[in-house]
Amino acid sequence: MTARVPLAHLPTPVQRFEALDRWIGSEVWVKRDDMTGGAEAGNKLRKLEYLVADAERRGARTLITCGGIQSNHARATAIVAARRGLRSLLFLRGELPGTLSGNLLLDRLVGADIRTISPEQYRARSELMLQAAESLTGEHAPGYVIPEGGSNGLGALGYVEAMREVAEQRRLGLCGDRRPFDAIVLACGSGGTAAGVAVGARRSGLAERVVPIAVCDDRSYFEVVIARIVSEMRAIDPTLPEAAELTILDGFKGPAYGIASHEQTRFLVEVARRTGLLLDPVYTGKAMFGLANLDPKPRRVLFLHTGGLPGLLAQASELGTHL
Ligand SMILES: *Cc1c(COP(=O)(O)O)cnc(C)c1O
Repeated sequence: MTARVPLAHLPTPVQRFEALDRWIGSEVWVKRDDMTGGAEAGNKLRKLEYLVADAERRGARTLITCGGIQSNHARATAIVAARRGLRSLLFLRGELPGTLSGNLLLDRLVGADIRTISPEQYRARSELMLQAAESLTGEHAPGYVIPEGGSNGLGALGYVEAMREVAEQRRLGLCGDRRPFDAIVLACGSGGTAAGVAVGARRSGLAERVVPIAVCDDRSYFEVVIARIVSEMRAIDPTLPEAAELTILDGFKGPAYGIASHEQTRFLVEVARRTGLLLDPVYTGKAMFGLANLDPKPRRVLFLHTGGLPGLLAQASELGTHL
């Protein structure tokens, strides 16, 4: 079995919200992976369990990763690094704002070394991170490069495990009856979670169909990315099956990555008010909005809540007019 360090608080609950079911018109079971931990919570923590085990086995002293300026993944990596006595180096796309908030505030709080880069430099992120790892090795703080979103075959194994966890919860009667779900719906940003869920869903007999809702790029891009990650996973663990059927939707991205439309923002506010379930404007809000607009509607759905609360807290001015 592939080595793993325990970082996440597991199992996360599966919950159902009457008001949400009524509104969406489906039986929606919410897998609360926004509750995998404290400030480090979210889907990235399950991937980091495998990635950090590999980093430590190789003697790394610095975790190097990248993302947008408000990256949830970079924040989770920085907090985990501090917890494991490692350093973190984050390449973040964009510019440092005058006031730190959300993920960026947490990155700085735990002492991450932050380097901001332009969108052009971001395209060469893999080379940038590799160079940094090499120079850190010279400084006796060997670096370990974690790709964007922790999305490679190793990280994605975290979601095979997550689906095993849901299958066990279903067996225990915690997801209503024991039928499979008609679909699993989740936000998709770098593809690793979708890849892990799709392989795990088939392995655990949880659902025949997985519906990743793209928050950036498009369907053909993610088809390639997810297929690559799935083949990496199956190279690491040849006992893994093929992925379940994937229906990648790219019509719910809103105006741009990180920016929700007025309709999506109103939706997120309404969900918060009716259910107390907090979605974020970058990922989970768009994914739930996608689920609400699926046609035909699946009768019984597993919605994966992947986290993102710090990103919500960094959008006070964008949300302000809707409150
Ligand atoms: C990173 C992230 C996602 C997307 O997961 P990927 O594995 O990158 O596709 C979804 N939701 C939240 C809150 C995230 O931080």
